[in-house]
Amino acid sequence: MTTRILVTGGAGFIGSHYVRTLLGPEGPGDVAITVLDKLTYAGNPANLDEVRAHPRFRFVQGDICDPATVHPLMAEHDQVVHFAAESHVDRSIDGGDTFVHTNVLGTHTLVAAAHRAGIHAFVQISTDEVYGSIDAGSWPETHPLRPSSPYSAAKAAGDLVALSYHHTHGLDVRVTRCSNNYGHHHFPEKAIPLFVTHLIDGRKIPLYGDGGNVRDWLHIDDHVRGIELVRTRGRAGEVYNIGGGTELTNRELTALLLEQFGADWDSSVEPVADRKGHDRRYSVDCTKIREELGYAPRVPFAQGLAETVRWYRENRAWWEPLKERAAL
Ligand code: NAD
Repeated sequence: MTTRILVTGGAGFIGSHYVRTLLGPEGPGDVAITVLDKLTYAGNPANLDEVRAHPRFRFVQGDICDPATVHPLMAEHDQVVHFAAESHVDRSIDGGDTFVHTNVLGTHTLVAAAHRAGIHAFVQISTDEVYGSIDAGSWPETHPLRPSSPYSAAKAAGDLVALSYHHTHGLDVRVTRCSNNYGHHHFPEKAIPLFVTHLIDGRKIPLYGDGGNVRDWLHIDDHVRGIELVRTRGRAGEVYNIGGGTELTNRELTALLLEQFGADWDSSVEPVADRKGHDRRYSVDCTKIREELGYAPRVPFAQGLAETVRWYRENRAWWEPLKERAAL
């Protein structure tokens, strides 16, 4: 039997990779997908070109905050995978309104509609940033939420709203909290694609503060694999961390990128004032998803990074207009 999945934010970086993967040759074959996406500055219809003509694909342009759009659509589906969000921390520091609106109210609109429609599984795609910053060790899913930015605070609120629908109404909500994703089709305001495309054009890379902030890098293929394990075999009301297992300081990441371009530090890196409230280190403990669902990241970082750099070298037509429009 075909499972009808509503994918919110499916025109963005991770959501579009999820859709392309599920409808591609390696996909499960028994799913039909509707993407609901508002097409904000981060949503790009070109990300879905590969699947546009697929018989089990449909695209709806609309806002997850709009009940008149969401309710009838929900009634036509069995499951939801909810990616749609305002996702860029720096933008949330400049102004948090849209972050709270989309990430909290939008999530509430979806879970309320999912409850009414009797949805079988609602997968809330969240972030490790909800835990805050950790100097040593790694967070298990039971760690208290201490988000630092308006972005992560709004994501944490969205998680709690979604989980409240499990507790109160018995809605099958599963939350995933992943680390920093990287890969192709990543909007060029985010660190890796910004650095790569600057280096392609011979521009200097802006490096925040002392460059000592640590992130755990997760390839989008591994993230999609983790989401699929949770969608198909996860348990209702549970939270699953998904990590990549490659922790790097921003200085280390920058050095690896410079290596790809044969560029040297002094002529290619420009230190800039640190991000306000910048979390020092993120680190997820993935024991639960590994032991319960057999998850393990498979893409070695060096390979994933080299492939990502190659993709940006070969796809200027994809990223150049986005950088121009966003004045990056
Ligand atoms: P993205 O910014 O590339 O894409 C977001 C998508 O959501 C866009 O297509 C946009 O048009 C759509 N959208 C925004 N507001 C909407 C609304 N009101 N209604 C309908 N659609 C709307 O984001 P991404 O990097 O693909 O992230 C996807 C999810 O994963 C987000 O929930 C994010 O918090 C989470 N996440 C991302 C990362 C990462 O490293 N990129 C890490 C952890 C968690």
